[in-house]
Amino acid sequence: MESLQVIELGEARVGVINTGDLALDLADALGVTPAEQPAEYAADFAEPAQVAVNCIYIGLPGLNVLVDAAAYDLDSSFALPNYTPPPDLIAQLAQIGVTPQEIDHIIISHLHFDHFNGLTHQQDGQFVPSFPNAVVHIGQADWLAAQPKIETADSLEAHTLGVLQQQGRIHPVNGDYALGDAVQILASPGETPGHQTVKLSAGGQTLYCIGDLYHHIVEIAYPQWGVRWADMPTMQQSRAQFVEAALAEDAIVIVSHVHGAGQLAEVNGGVQWRTLERSA
Ligand SMILES: [Zn+2]
Repeated sequence: MESLQVIELGEARVGVINTGDLALDLADALGVTPAEQPAEYAADFAEPAQVAVNCIYIGLPGLNVLVDAAAYDLDSSFALPNYTPPPDLIAQLAQIGVTPQEIDHIIISHLHFDHFNGLTHQQDGQFVPSFPNAVVHIGQADWLAAQPKIETADSLEAHTLGVLQQQGRIHPVNGDYALGDAVQILASPGETPGHQTVKLSAGGQTLYCIGDLYHHIVEIAYPQWGVRWADMPTMQQSRAQFVEAALAEDAIVIVSHVHGAGQLAEVNGGVQWRTLERSA
């Protein structure tokens, strides 16, 4: 599957950029026993599911936004054997004509490593911002929880968030927050306390970047399931709010770890994922 997908909504241009697949042991992550595993998702449960790590570019006249900034890490315990990652985030942005300097805002869905480890990179032995002009919007609860790690020398957080903090580039977001008329940050706690969703309204259409509200489409069809590390009652509230809005708005949806954009469809009283057809 192509790593880059471009969608247009009126004046807005959206780039869904997969920065590299990771392995997810679904049965373990969801705590689902073999007897409970639905036949149609057997292949995903049989071996570690291969999930995307999407970053999303949203371009509007006078506004360039990035949702999450990931860098593929070969040394991660989630790395797939014999896997060649696609070109990195900056190279894929270049494919759609966007330079790192042009990014005005980065919205971090939540502070798990695979969503923010591309905020900086090493240059002459120093960590420097990969998007030097961007303000980085982070859910306040996640920002507060990250403080001890930022103060730990040589941690990922020190090398990324710490560098940006010193440059005054972090904006902790408390609740919902709007970036102009078209882009809204919506609090959607559960995966982490400061997890946030991004809503784009353009050309009479709606698009949501929902981060890790789900990790795999099996959770959309079986919403009682969720990852072990989430606060599930809170997650369920965030999911319910999102599902109601997305169905009513017939919205396009991008999930961090699901390949390609999609939509929700009501099927037999439940909800299922439908992958959006890619235009040529
Ligand atoms: Zn994630």
